[in-house]
Amino acid sequence: MNNSEQKIRNSDDIRPVDTRKEWKLLYYQHGRPGLEEGSKFKGICRYCELKDMCPLPKPEGGVWRCSYYRAFQKKSNLYNHVLEQLEKAKEVVPFDADICKILTETMNEIVVHFPVKMKDGRVKVLTGYRVQHNNALGPFKGGVRFHPDVDIDEIKALATLMTWKTAITNIPFGGAKGGIQLDPADFSSDEMERISRRFTYALGNNIGPEYDIPAPDVNTNSQIMAWIQDTYMSTVAPNERNRCVHVVTGKPIESGGSQGREKATGQGVVFLIEKWASEHGMDLKGATYIVQGFGNVGSWTARLMKKHGAKLIAVEDVTGSISNKYGIDPDDLSSYVKAHGGVRGYLKAEPIEHVTFFSTKADIFIPAALENQITDATAELLDVKLIAEGANGPTDPEGDKVLKRRNIAVIPDILCNSGGVIVSYFEWLQNKRSEFWDLEEVDAKLRKTIIAAYERVREAAERYKVDWRTAAQIVALARLEMVYKERGIFP
Ligand code: NAD
Repeated sequence: MNNSEQKIRNSDDIRPVDTRKEWKLLYYQHGRPGLEEGSKFKGICRYCELKDMCPLPKPEGGVWRCSYYRAFQKKSNLYNHVLEQLEKAKEVVPFDADICKILTETMNEIVVHFPVKMKDGRVKVLTGYRVQHNNALGPFKGGVRFHPDVDIDEIKALATLMTWKTAITNIPFGGAKGGIQLDPADFSSDEMERISRRFTYALGNNIGPEYDIPAPDVNTNSQIMAWIQDTYMSTVAPNERNRCVHVVTGKPIESGGSQGREKATGQGVVFLIEKWASEHGMDLKGATYIVQGFGNVGSWTARLMKKHGAKLIAVEDVTGSISNKYGIDPDDLSSYVKAHGGVRGYLKAEPIEHVTFFSTKADIFIPAALENQITDATAELLDVKLIAEGANGPTDPEGDKVLKRRNIAVIPDILCNSGGVIVSYFEWLQNKRSEFWDLEEVDAKLRKTIIAAYERVREAAERYKVDWRTAAQIVALARLEMVYKERGIFP
């Protein structure tokens, strides 16, 4: 802990700061990764949340209103939410109790602590996780997340969601997830490379091209995948090296990546929105939508929605919220975000409050940031017809109840954002066969696979008269149950 951080964590220093203005001042004084240069202070909001010493009052409905950092909602319970969802499906379909018992637990939970040399010559010991939930359907598969809030429960939950996702889409993978608890804004590019490589080395044979295949997630990208790939390939025997190209997916094209992988999750979201709109009489030309999170998933979804003539009217990311009722150009905003690190300060839109963002009247809402954003409080604010969940776990169970009562349709995460893992599977296949598919082929196969999954979920929703989230869970469990029944339990 550095001096300023120590100072701010002292309650006597915090308590006198009780107005919004002073809070902002405090924030600016100490800076914030990605926004202000020159300060190492960070994590005040997490601290306040954990210790309940936040200088801001909690407004009505429990929604925290700090404009600069809003990831306050408790998310350590995501794993409980995932298990609750499984129970809900079991109430509708009497799945085999023993098989459900297996699926309620993760198979392997790997925690590694590894040292990395920083640019000042000192050594930092970081903690990384890889959770392998299930591999009944094929090798473990799932992203790697770099975020200060990463913990074992979050990774367990996300690994479990991956198992459901691969099962729904009928692709031969299991479910896994990994992550390191860190804020990338605290590290230089060289340090990030050393961290990624040392994490890969620490995981050793717990990952592998036929065993467990990582991919990008929050704050990781194709560059980080290339470092993981290179480290893994450099630490196997020389004659094995080129058999390991597919140890990760989401790589740069030149290193064996697939056409269309970078936009795949957003592309999948848009294929499903298109399908839903055609079935519900919504014309996407002129339809309005709002997006939370403008990283890989959010920005690609918006850029692809533009091709349908839909109008982006509000965006929120970790730096703030903006709106323009006449429309925001997603391509222009993407360039701005790349240059400035977030949407804050984008001059072709108005800055708005978090609550105003959630209250914006639109046809579609695309959450594409973190989990537990749609709570009972924020679900009451939403004024949309459809929520297409680009993010994993963006809606908590209380939020879900409100959406149901308010008749807001949801394309659930495990279906909606499955485009990423579908094209990861295509990338893996291309690597194994030494093939290169063109973009048209990748997109056509993605559309076919994700629409087939949509239809399976819709059929289950109609057959069992349940919401789509429960239907998606039923589809996933049915496939896994079938496989376990066919193979039996060893020995
Ligand atoms: P990313 O790091 O590229 O972008 C994350 C975005 O969320 C950023 O714009 C960030 O500013 C924003 N954000 C972070 N905290 C926020 C907060 N508190 N409030 C508002 N915005 C906030 O990550 P990504 O790859 O786009 O992933 C986004 C979501 O999609 C995650 O839930 C991830 O698990 C899920 N997902 C990603 C992929 C993929 O292929 N990348 C695939 C499936 C699902």
